[in-house]
Amino acid sequence: MTQILVTGSLPSIVVSDEFSPNTDELVVHNNRFAENFEDGDLAVAPIMGLAVVACMDSRMDIFKILGLENGEAHIVRNAGGVITDDVIRSLCLSQRFLGTREIILLHHTDCGLQMVSEDEFKAELEAELGIKPRWSLEPFADPYSDTRQSMQRLLLTPFVDAQHLRGFVYDVTDGHLHEVSQAE
Ligand SMILES: [Zn+2]
Repeated sequence: MTQILVTGSLPSIVVSDEFSPNTDELVVHNNRFAENFEDGDLAVAPIMGLAVVACMDSRMDIFKILGLENGEAHIVRNAGGVITDDVIRSLCLSQRFLGTREIILLHHTDCGLQMVSEDEFKAELEAELGIKPRWSLEPFADPYSDTRQSMQRLLLTPFVDAQHLRGFVYDVTDGHLHEVSQAE
């Protein structure tokens, strides 16, 4: 298999240049899944009254990590598990329309956002595309202080009730959660 080296603001990451989309295979999986489907009676409101905000990292199976079942919690994910306006939008809806009251933040070690520089990333995009994005990349150095930052944002926004808020860093090397206190 041929491999190419991606360089730039990201550290050098080896990725294959041979790729074929997986969707057809995944649709076959879905047909198999639907044959034994038993969750048709689940309510739209999460049974646990819980919303989890997590990084999109492919190594984190939120249901397995927390022992959750289908229908028990909302899972809101993006790069870094960052509290953006859109995450606040989701949490506001989750709380006001679907009754969730508890929030868990799941950040983790070895995050892709620890490897990029916002300025370099945007400069590269501008050089290549002629335009810089309006959004912030929100890179960080330390997942613990980043989790604390996210907790602070939720404590400060008027749109979300953060009375039952806890934050954790998931260690991708051993599967353990490490709780982060709200204050340093
Ligand atoms: Zn991550």
